Amino acid sequence: LVVLRGVDKHFGALHVLQDIDLSVARGEVVVVIGPSGSGKSTLCRTINRLETIDSGTITIDGRPLPQEGRELARLRADVGMVFQSFNLFAHKTVLENVTLGQVKVRRLGRAASEEKARVLLDRVGVGAQADKYPAQLSGGQQQRVAIARALAMDPKVMLFDEPTSALDPEMINEVLDVMQQLARDGMTMIVVTHEMGFARSAANRVVFMADGRIVEEASPDAFFSSPRSDRAKDFLSKIL
Ligand code: ATP
Ligand code: MG
Repeated sequence: LVVLRGVDKHFGALHVLQDIDLSVARGEVVVVIGPSGSGKSTLCRTINRLETIDSGTITIDGRPLPQEGRELARLRADVGMVFQSFNLFAHKTVLENVTLGQVKVRRLGRAASEEKARVLLDRVGVGAQADKYPAQLSGGQQQRVAIARALAMDPKVMLFDEPTSALDPEMINEVLDVMQQLARDGMTMIVVTHEMGFARSAANRVVFMADGRIVEEASPDAFFSSPRSDRAKDFLSKIL
């Protein structure tokens, strides 16, 4: 579903992505881990074209990423993204946050988009918060609204970039549970996270990045029990 071939990207002299090959099949959950600065966020951002690439190709459903305009807006809807900071619109209610894109990009009517938003908000456990503003919600609730907002666009794939790392510990699990459920429901997911419990239980595959390269790819069991590279061994010894 998502295929990167020979992707390279520089920030000035920094070679932030180096010859990245990655294929994610429909329904697959890929967890990306690696040291700070290894290029994980940049990788995510190239997939919905928040960042351009210098060379290589990225296709989604066999089609290269569009460059601009309406096609690009549609791509961004097809590729749902959830960030560490929740990025909700502060002056819109929870319900409005979840209906906005549906009306603008998917051209859904108001009634239909609200109905869908309520179903999704219920599904992530914040249905009772629909008429509140983001600042009135806990971090965990806001992040679940952000997930509902992305899901409202019927994305083909969901990208998560450290979705729980800004949350207080007691809120982490409520977000991971929602993600766990999404994975079970067959959503295609690329997840950057330091939550190794999630990686073990939800991932089909772990991708380990260092210095802009994919150093290792393996099943979670294989990766955590017997990492092959010294970089991965070193990384795991620090976080486990
Ligand atoms: P972390 O675990 O800290 O989130 P990461 O693996 O997500 O790290 P990236 O955010 O992708 O790493 O950054 C990779 C490298 O690119 C870092 O050295 C970072 O400083 C640099 N970088 C990221 N964005 C930019 C930018 N817009 N301009 C210049 N350099 C950047
Ligand atoms: Mg990052």
